[in-house]
Amino acid sequence: MRAIVIGGGIGGLTTALALHAAGIGAEVFEAAAEVRPLGVGINLQPHAVRELTELGLGEALAAAGVATREFVYANRFGQEIWAEPRGLAAGYRWPQYSIHRGRLQMLLWRAAAERLGAARLHTGRRLLGIEQDGAGVTARFADGGTARGDLLVAADGIHSAVRAQFFPGEGPPKWNGCILWRAVSLASPFRTGASMVQAGHRDRKFVCYPIGQAADGRAEINWIAEQRFPADHVWAREDWNRRADPAAFLPLFADWEFGWLSVPALIRAAEAVYEFPMVDRDPLPWWTQGRATLLGDAAHPMYPIGSNGASQAILDARFLALQLATQPGIEAGLAAYEAARRPATAAVVEANRGDGPDRVMDIVHARAPEGFARLEDVVSREELEATVTAYKRIAGMDPATLNARPSWSVPARPAG
Ligand SMILES: Cc1cc2nc3c(=O)[nH]c(=O)nc-3n(C[C@H](O)[C@H](O)[C@H](O)COP(=O)(O)OP(=O)(O)OC[C@H]3O[C@@H](n4cnc5c(N)ncnc54)[C@H](O)[C@@H]3O)c2cc1C
Repeated sequence: MRAIVIGGGIGGLTTALALHAAGIGAEVFEAAAEVRPLGVGINLQPHAVRELTELGLGEALAAAGVATREFVYANRFGQEIWAEPRGLAAGYRWPQYSIHRGRLQMLLWRAAAERLGAARLHTGRRLLGIEQDGAGVTARFADGGTARGDLLVAADGIHSAVRAQFFPGEGPPKWNGCILWRAVSLASPFRTGASMVQAGHRDRKFVCYPIGQAADGRAEINWIAEQRFPADHVWAREDWNRRADPAAFLPLFADWEFGWLSVPALIRAAEAVYEFPMVDRDPLPWWTQGRATLLGDAAHPMYPIGSNGASQAILDARFLALQLATQPGIEAGLAAYEAARRPATAAVVEANRGDGPDRVMDIVHARAPEGFARLEDVVSREELEATVTAYKRIAGMDPATLNARPSWSVPARPAG
């Protein structure tokens, strides 16, 4: 069996590695002329770290990211609403990593080049469309070339060419009115030194977490400042690499001084700030046509709430490889993949539209917009716990369930 994988992002590269580990040949076609470490920080939740660890990448991940120890919700005055341990400290068998997206992509690219062979990873190959017959799939590229495989996995992101071919009337992604400004700043570590903090509420939010350490001991702190605009606000097409001027949003956070964290100082310390509208797409009625299917952001782009975009793409990749290796035939493998992963990811897309676990900040803001003397007068611990726990179950990262679930590695065949 030979698979064509479109897109060399986190979803596509994990798919290639997972297929290879499952004994299935894979070839990756990436549109970018060169793969460079683009983006800022992302989080890999324990369910995704499990999959990458079972692909033999645990040590490389530990060296490239920060093992998150704590997660904190606060209001816009820095008053703590909720703090919980994360990763190993929360009882998971696998850590959570906060990591630079580009470093993760390069790590996966190198692993794929070593294992599949560099000749199976192609850059500068932008897919235009696909054709199918009973025996396989032909991919057509902008350079005039084609490639042929027994099946095709489209991991070509939020502007997927294959999704557009499957659903020609879908149109652009949907914007919820929020703009995200994202950057990395060098600054002193805060709280545990491996804490992820979210402060504010659904209309104005600040998120930050360390993703590494500079040679001088300062932390590389990834941050996201977020503001909701009126519905008629004009926005440009989402582009992960569009630069922004901090002067445009620094005034919104000018008095966010928490004592233990200075939001304006972090914003001022950034070298380069990137701007992105918060977009997603509606869950689809189907992902698979014949021997071609969608994966990752091509299948289920979601708001970056609950830090699950990259993690869900990694889960897709591993589950797909297991199904292709164990179901009787390609169509059956693709059907089993879609039957499990399409509803699971649609639930995360919907939960993120309702602000996901961040709802705990919205609850407190609605009841105590000017802050509080005693949190227990505003909200009970049970109400907060119910909100964050419900999201973990939806996203497939409830610790007990994840720890107990059998591996998605393909069982080794008995010798002979
Ligand atoms: C440059 C870049 C920077 C990002 N930075 C961040 C970030 O800082 N924080 C964050 O939370 N998320 C970021 N994301 C999104 C995040 O990586 C994804 O939400 C998540 O990892 C799911 O990954 P994916 O592989 O499904 O999609 P993506 O990561 O979007 O990867 C899709 C890949 O497909 C390639 N591609 C697109 N169209 C074609 C085509 N027609 N033919 C061939 N290849 C094609 C793209 O070049 C890309 O490499 C970024 C994405 C990109 C592409």
